[in-house]
Amino acid sequence: MKALVIGNKTSHLIDGLGFIQVLASELGESIEAYGLLYGNQVEEVKGFTKIFSMPDASPEAVANTVSKVIEKVTLEIVVGPAEKNGTEILSRVASVNNMPMITEVSGISKAGDTTYLERAIMGGRATALYGFKTPIAVTVPAKKFKVSDAEATPEFEELQVIDGVTKVVEVLPKEKGAVDLEAAEIIVGVGRGFKAKDDLAMAFELAELLSGEVGCSRPVAADFKWLGEDRWIGISGKKIRGKLYIAVGISGAPQHIMAASDTKVIVAVNKDKNAPIFTFSDYGVVADLYQFLPVFIKKLKEKKGL
Ligand SMILES: Cc1cc2nc3c(=O)[nH]c(=O)nc-3n(C[C@H](O)[C@H](O)[C@H](O)COP(=O)(O)OP(=O)(O)OC[C@H]3O[C@@H](n4cnc5c(N)ncnc54)[C@H](O)[C@@H]3O)c2cc1C
Repeated sequence: MKALVIGNKTSHLIDGLGFIQVLASELGESIEAYGLLYGNQVEEVKGFTKIFSMPDASPEAVANTVSKVIEKVTLEIVVGPAEKNGTEILSRVASVNNMPMITEVSGISKAGDTTYLERAIMGGRATALYGFKTPIAVTVPAKKFKVSDAEATPEFEELQVIDGVTKVVEVLPKEKGAVDLEAAEIIVGVGRGFKAKDDLAMAFELAELLSGEVGCSRPVAADFKWLGEDRWIGISGKKIRGKLYIAVGISGAPQHIMAASDTKVIVAVNKDKNAPIFTFSDYGVVADLYQFLPVFIKKLKEKKGL
């Protein structure tokens, strides 16, 4: 199986290679894997025949450059990271090269002679199985597929960027104080159950006590604008996959909870015992957040001797 894995971090190449290895083993095929790393220092990753590198560029320019590689190496599969840039680049590559694309592939299974790519749907309540033909483009979430023994030592080749019609005019740094929810291990999520912006102070205090971050549902960031978009969790916001998510005053709409389903432990605090969030939670607290949070914070402080 000839495959190309793209990404702007070495971990993207490793995640993609893990996927290729599992798929090739299911199909009983050997692997010829190529990597393409853009915008980052290229490192040796065992298991690749060749790793191409290129400077950071717009998704369109990266997609153009990837398409040039595809012209050189006849590929069966192109894999990228299941995040915003990876999805944009691969959808451009898929469209130009006439490939079907499956995003967020989190598993591979076999029934009879057919191999399926698996993807969570309906907020993680169901799994869709996709039969496929190559060539195909696929995005995979971080750390879903582990790399097993990989021996090939890669050659390296620098690529010229092939610009498109769009150009990056300026790159602005993230807003000061912007949080990186995707890297956070502990998150306290706030939703429309909070009645006023000032009340979020309770969530910030709780997050600080737990050495975590505060995230939110869409209405809190998009409608009320109480918090920045960097804290917005959901299919149109950030995906989280830490150790603990405490969702407070959040109903558990699929568009929100799907982006938290890879978290190890989910705790929900909601005054409605029938709130859908309880279906997705490991622990549930049926309570008014205005009564529960002050007591919870007090207890934590006592435990910490504060
Ligand atoms: C295309 C599309 C994309 C979307 N993308 C996203 C997304 O990325 N992220 C996202 O979050 N949403 C997204 N949404 C919106 C989503 O469908 C929900 O509307 C949203 O998640 C609801 O936010 P919420 O849970 O904060 O509010 P609500 O649904 O209003 O829930 C509030 C909850 O708080 C509880 N509550 C109220 N008062 C208290 C109290 N005092 N104590 C305890 N509990 C209390 C209520 O029982 C209720 O369950 C999207 C929707 C669409 C159509």
